[in-house]
Amino acid sequence: MSKLKLVDIDKSYRTGDQYLHVLDKISLEFRESEFVSILGPSGSGKTTLLNVIGGLDHYDSGDLIINNQSTKHFRDRDWDSYRNRSIGFVFQTYNLIGHQSVLQNVEIAMTLSGVSADERKQRATKALEEVGLEDHINKKPNQLSGGQMQRVAIARALVNNPDIILADEPTGALDSTTSTQVMDILREVAKTRLVIMVTHNEDIATEYSNRIIRFLDGHIQSDSAPLTDDLPDEPVIENKKNKKTSMS
Ligand code: ADP
Repeated sequence: MSKLKLVDIDKSYRTGDQYLHVLDKISLEFRESEFVSILGPSGSGKTTLLNVIGGLDHYDSGDLIINNQSTKHFRDRDWDSYRNRSIGFVFQTYNLIGHQSVLQNVEIAMTLSGVSADERKQRATKALEEVGLEDHINKKPNQLSGGQMQRVAIARALVNNPDIILADEPTGALDSTTSTQVMDILREVAKTRLVIMVTHNEDIATEYSNRIIRFLDGHIQSDSAPLTDDLPDEPVIENKKNKKTSMS
């Protein structure tokens, strides 16, 4: 089943009196459970795409269809609800709150969910166990390694049980050993969810994802679909026949 569908999504930023056309009629469809890597040069529009999909930024025209529902007439409260219920974000820089404990950093994601303090604690503890950090819940972020901080960020992203994880360069600040730990967790996550990851790392994209989309100057240069049903034990082989030079 289609989880997300982008139809002719256009997005420009205004800088002074100039418009920068960042997403150029992007059309893409994502299933409920796949691990998608988005590759491309800096400035090609990858983060903007992720932000538009996550409702952090709004498209100018086209449509983003979520679970077969158009978002054309979404109001702010609809976007807030979509972000809180359906999306977990993971960023390169972890975005943890320095003066709060690991546990509090995960609990904070449930502030708007209306669950009791006890349940928040219980769910945050379970999410931290799932990423192997049960022994670190009372520490502050600066007492953790980069890989551990990213695992806290993944626990925070998962604690509301979202259907979609959007990860922007999740291993960008990590060495190869800690990158592997973080990617192994994301691979597990992608078995039951849609994970869309922006990365510069070709090797990681090939090893972990079951679909690779290449971006260039705001359009799709290639998309490795058709997809395999399983996450790869073997590296992805891109289907050159399906390469597209432009979606427009
Ligand atoms: P990538 O993730 O591929 O590096 P981005 O999506 O971050 O690319 O950026 C694409 C282009 O849009 C870049 O030229 C960037 O400077 C510009 N851009 C991104 N966000 C904004 C913004 N909020 N305002 C103005 N320009 C922006």
